[in-house]
Amino acid sequence: MDDSFADWAPEVNWQRRKQPLNLYLHTPFCHHRCAFCPFFQNTTKPGFSARYADHLICDLERKARWLGPTVAARRVSSVFFGGGTPSDMDAADLARVICKLRDLYPIDDDTEITVEGRIWGFTRDKAEAWREAGANRISIGLQSTNTKIRRSMGRLADRGQIRETLQNFVALGYVTIVDLIYGLPRQDVASVVEDVRFLAEETGIDGLDLYALKQFPGSPLAKAVEQGRMAAPADTHLRAEMFTAAAAELARHGFEHFTPQHWRRSERERSIYNQLAKTSADILPFGSSAGGRLSNVTISCHRLLDDYETAMDDGSLGARCTIQEPKPGQDFTDAVMSSIQRRMLPPLSEWPAHEDSSAIAENWRVAGLIGEPQADGIPLTQAGCFWFPRLQQLLAMLTAQSVGRAA
Ligand code: SF4
Repeated sequence: MDDSFADWAPEVNWQRRKQPLNLYLHTPFCHHRCAFCPFFQNTTKPGFSARYADHLICDLERKARWLGPTVAARRVSSVFFGGGTPSDMDAADLARVICKLRDLYPIDDDTEITVEGRIWGFTRDKAEAWREAGANRISIGLQSTNTKIRRSMGRLADRGQIRETLQNFVALGYVTIVDLIYGLPRQDVASVVEDVRFLAEETGIDGLDLYALKQFPGSPLAKAVEQGRMAAPADTHLRAEMFTAAAAELARHGFEHFTPQHWRRSERERSIYNQLAKTSADILPFGSSAGGRLSNVTISCHRLLDDYETAMDDGSLGARCTIQEPKPGQDFTDAVMSSIQRRMLPPLSEWPAHEDSSAIAENWRVAGLIGEPQADGIPLTQAGCFWFPRLQQLLAMLTAQSVGRAA
């Protein structure tokens, strides 16, 4: 159904006009590969930025034209420039992409427009140009603020550059968010706490994500550990200590524990895209490797850059569209993702009909992962937030089993 996007998408978009629409624009280029990362695709080369911006604009124009008048009927609640490293693009190039998308899609002052990036190469002139064009939120993958640990992971900027760059973003009025990873080789509890202290006291950030290190097989990090060139990452026990200590430091600096892995210092930080992306909300994708969906149709833009650019040049969609059969249990999955925004699980009455549901919930309560049930759900404790990815997996298994038995 790829070539018929113009036939099916307008009607679907119109039917769903009361629901939020989100746009995702992917930039599959990075200066170099970070040690822990499985997502690296293309190295930034001189001249890539203008050419890629042209293709993104072409993609924006084509989908808007094919969606026709239905585009105007559907407000865009969030836009996310992800990667890769969008901040590797030149100031003027990404600015013209932002301006074009504001011309073509119903974006207003309340639309969250995030640019993801890293400190290295995120110059003040870029931040100014993109703010002027309409971006209002920046998300930086920092991983650590310790210069030695950063450099062992392939991150180039030092602490002084982190401070200066983040302060610039804040001064320009961006909602400024950073990601930290805990469990990296050489990290200890004190260094994670120091990361939080430094960011809270010296940079003015609005929000912070704490992610446990995932060691992807085949990554430079995994190989270095296997070959004994790098210390092993922290074990689960140490990670739990790091998470607990970092959470306490965030609380000490007045951050609200917003979702299991995310904290914010003010309500300026809404995290709209990140929350909606975890549900079945509609996301229209643009750019090589971008993925999204409209209702039950997934849209996967061509992963290989050459294929995507050829499609943009020859006037086609540059994506594969696939109808997804409704997933049994999707309502419960959406309910989990919705309630988790309040650090709650859905009430037990909404859990899958499975004879083990009550016993599992009771085990989690005794283990200190969840609190006493309340009218609007079951609160996650801090330990429950640490274990949330695992709890989520178990709930998915429970759902699959109950659906399987009902079939
Ligand atoms: S900048 Fe981001 S996407 Fe690129 S290699 Fe590093 S972690 Fe991966």
